[in-house]
Amino acid sequence: MTHIADWLLPCLRQVQVLKQTNSLSHALLITGADGVGQEELAHEMVKDLMCESDQASACGYCHSCQLMRADTHPDFRVLDGEASTIKVDQVRLLVRQISQKPQVGHNKVVLITHAQAMNINAANAVLKALEEPAARTYFVLTSSQSTSLLPTIRSRCLLVNVPTPSLDAVKTWLTQQPEGEVLSSLFWLTTQPFRLLSIQQQGKTPIYLELPQKLSEMVHGRMPVSDVIKGMDSNNVEDYCNGLAAILHQCICHSTGAPLDAALQGIFNVLVSRLGIQQLMLRYQSLQNLKSDLQKTNLNPIMQLTHELNQW
Ligand SMILES: [Zn+2]
Repeated sequence: MTHIADWLLPCLRQVQVLKQTNSLSHALLITGADGVGQEELAHEMVKDLMCESDQASACGYCHSCQLMRADTHPDFRVLDGEASTIKVDQVRLLVRQISQKPQVGHNKVVLITHAQAMNINAANAVLKALEEPAARTYFVLTSSQSTSLLPTIRSRCLLVNVPTPSLDAVKTWLTQQPEGEVLSSLFWLTTQPFRLLSIQQQGKTPIYLELPQKLSEMVHGRMPVSDVIKGMDSNNVEDYCNGLAAILHQCICHSTGAPLDAALQGIFNVLVSRLGIQQLMLRYQSLQNLKSDLQKTNLNPIMQLTHELNQW
């Protein structure tokens, strides 16, 4: 039995039907906004494709299903471009590895997540593999920026577009996740369900939960800057930058009529009257610059962020 988010189900069913009628394209491109669950959907689809039974969805019992669960299936390969560029050597190695007959079941699958991270040579190597498909081999690609992929790759894939779920759907889904309900208080940061889940899985929920309250205390003169960023270090400075930037972004949008999250009410009035919209936009830009500078250089994060917050 598959436990998958409601908004992903129609996409999964669509591919299951094609699989059962033997009319599935050997290349799939799963698109959608960041954090809506392309990768989760792709992993479910891959399990279905690898299963040796003739059912539409993975049986969970056959040898292939067991190997997939143990993450040791020899006919399944993954490349993930989330953290770094996907290079041509990686693609070539993987194409070589799957060029033989399936070792276990009927199919072989290559999964490339965040496929926009392929450099041009890697993309051309994938294109070549798609143009000369090996028998019983499927390529499953995911991307939130599919328009940046080679048009020739896109045109060879069956496009599966994951819809962005409604806020209510995200709320309901969060209540079904272990300790997920509290994540609904972070909608000022993002409403992307799998981004929220990833924050929780990395143990970073407290940083974001406390930030609006601390910032409110700071702008009202009741908390020093040093207490706002207490606990910050090079491992989580990006989270502080993201959180602060999201708060500024919400305040800027609210000034043009967009609704404001209740958690930010106390901050908005003070910041707008003190800095004005123009200055808020500058601070937002400055945070974005700081985030990218901190990734590239050895700047002291505490000093930099203290300097930034002193201007609020
Ligand atoms: Zn199975």
